[in-house]
Amino acid sequence: MSAEIDFYELLEVERTADEKVLKSAYRKLAMKFHPDKNPGCADSEAKFKQINEAYACLSDPQKRAAYDRYGHAAFQQGGGGNAGGGFGGGDFGDIGDIFETIFGGAFGGGRQQARRGADLRYDMEITLEDAFHGKETEIAVEVSQTCSPCGGSGATPGTAARRCNMCKGHGKVRAQQGFFMVERACPTCQGRGEVIESPCKHCRGEGRVDAEQRLQVNIPAGVDTGTRIRLAGKGEAGPFGSPAGDLYLFLHIQRHSVFEREGTTLLTRCPISFTTAALGGEIEIPGLDGAVHVIEIPAGIQSGKQLRKRGAGMPVLQGRGIGDLVVEIHVETPTKLSARQKELLRDFQATETGDESPQSKGFFDRIKDAWTDLTE
Ligand SMILES: [Zn+2]
Ligand SMILES: [Zn+2]
Repeated sequence: MSAEIDFYELLEVERTADEKVLKSAYRKLAMKFHPDKNPGCADSEAKFKQINEAYACLSDPQKRAAYDRYGHAAFQQGGGGNAGGGFGGGDFGDIGDIFETIFGGAFGGGRQQARRGADLRYDMEITLEDAFHGKETEIAVEVSQTCSPCGGSGATPGTAARRCNMCKGHGKVRAQQGFFMVERACPTCQGRGEVIESPCKHCRGEGRVDAEQRLQVNIPAGVDTGTRIRLAGKGEAGPFGSPAGDLYLFLHIQRHSVFEREGTTLLTRCPISFTTAALGGEIEIPGLDGAVHVIEIPAGIQSGKQLRKRGAGMPVLQGRGIGDLVVEIHVETPTKLSARQKELLRDFQATETGDESPQSKGFFDRIKDAWTDLTE
């Protein structure tokens, strides 16, 4: 299981890397992690897939620009719906093509592509608090799994599939089409090369059955809307015992009543009284970490001013450090004044020279100048 890793980090290049640097970095890593060089190593295969995905994005100027602006969120479809169908299209589909384009089939042309099960998507909503602390949780997914009575073979236990007569076990048949000889999957065995005469009753010969799967998921601290967590091999079972696809958890962070989040920054708007604004003081903001953050208000603060408290924001995903808390100040004009308060304010008003409010003074001076210019 891995959360989303930065594409530039994956390819071990600077964010400013040009096309040439990118290509050579990709070439080096792809050679290193290619499944043919690391047979049976799931980690290498996963890494290979990630590298390809990263390069597919960064080698396309348009996709790269979108990625630089929005990160992984640039490539996610809208939310909604649980564990939908596979999403083989779009950003996952063209990996093979890219590899072929760059290496020109350097790795044995005839390599039989194992038919993997489909990747699945599972959308999940979590609170901002959960995103802050990280969370261990369990999800239930309805997904096809390898049939256990027949072990995925599709044949009644105790029997076996026999070689297909039509294609002699090749799985492919040749046919003349116009001038060309075309090869296509055998219609009798659907390309398997084998025929099941006595199908397993449990899975009706499919080799897999739909079943609810309960999965433990570890959501790391610092995740954001758009973070994808990959659960390797937890997608749909492959046909006839071939490897399962992956399950991708797409995270969505719920709206919070107090904080807005921008990356690792937490933002909140805080109203303060006009007396505190004028005289200065302190406010206390309870943070997501459970601590109370004391923010100093300097005397004479204006509405819209942002005060920053370092290290009181969101944790960095899979990294060190914590972002900042930003408090935007809104000065509240009092509305329900007692007779005594009004009297005090009138007294205050009587002593005003205009210098207490330089912005207002400046504004009205400018209006006066404009008016004088007009009348001269
Ligand atoms: Zn056949
Ligand atoms: Zn079965």
